[in-house]
Amino acid sequence: IVAREWHQADTVINVGGIPIGGKTIQVIGGPCSVETQAQMDLAAQGVAAAGCRLMRGGAFKPRTSPYTFQGKGIEGLEIFRQAAAKYRLPIVTELMDVRYLDIFLEQQVDVIQIGARNMQNFDLLKEVGRIHTPVVLKRGLCATISEWLMSAEYIAAGGNHNIILCERGVRSFEKAYRNMLDVTAIPILKKETHLPVIVDPSHAGGKASLVPALSKAAIAAGADGLLIEMHPNPCDAWCDADQALTPPELNQLMEELRLLAQAV
Ligand code: PEP
Ligand code: MN
Repeated sequence: IVAREWHQADTVINVGGIPIGGKTIQVIGGPCSVETQAQMDLAAQGVAAAGCRLMRGGAFKPRTSPYTFQGKGIEGLEIFRQAAAKYRLPIVTELMDVRYLDIFLEQQVDVIQIGARNMQNFDLLKEVGRIHTPVVLKRGLCATISEWLMSAEYIAAGGNHNIILCERGVRSFEKAYRNMLDVTAIPILKKETHLPVIVDPSHAGGKASLVPALSKAAIAAGADGLLIEMHPNPCDAWCDADQALTPPELNQLMEELRLLAQAV
């Protein structure tokens, strides 16, 4: 279903009137995690002011250590909803466990993120395949492109064709950054599938200073959008502090991207 062979035209996903895929480029901005109402209110303000039309933020966090902050959970979804509503920003947030799917639907989560660690959680994929909420499917930590597309196929097979693929870097031997952004995957995916492809430069680089260059490389290579971490005060972020842009940095990057998007 996800193959270009089956459906030639680019799929454009409508998220509350905002198109993802096709001719536009959308940037989803926001913090790694939902922390407090004040943090999310400031983040939403910064996201909207920069001109991003969707907001990200995790309420359920897949952390490497069980002893670190695991996310605000359901309360976090409520905080996020409230902060984003003021600026009419659709929300993108990660679902880790099928048991929370009904709550995600009740809270009217606009886009469900399936994180890298769950790319091959086939039961989770089947469940988000049964609904029609758009899904951002992140690439697994060391998944091949064809494994990733097969995971998208699990979602599509259930009837949900609203799938956005997100390249977020893959594990490599290099230690100078967090994950190796696979820029080559972008033109390959654009050929192999009609689904929109976005890029997360934050989890790839793992450092705020790398985010602008990786964002531009992604757009130049044909990505349909970006998923960028921004925190009102990165030094105080509860999670992924090193890679968060400040609101002025996001603003600056958005300006540069507007110029680039006209050029490509
Ligand atoms: C995230 O987006 O905050 C996240 C945990 O990303 P990934 O699943 O790509 O590691
Ligand atoms: Mn993060």
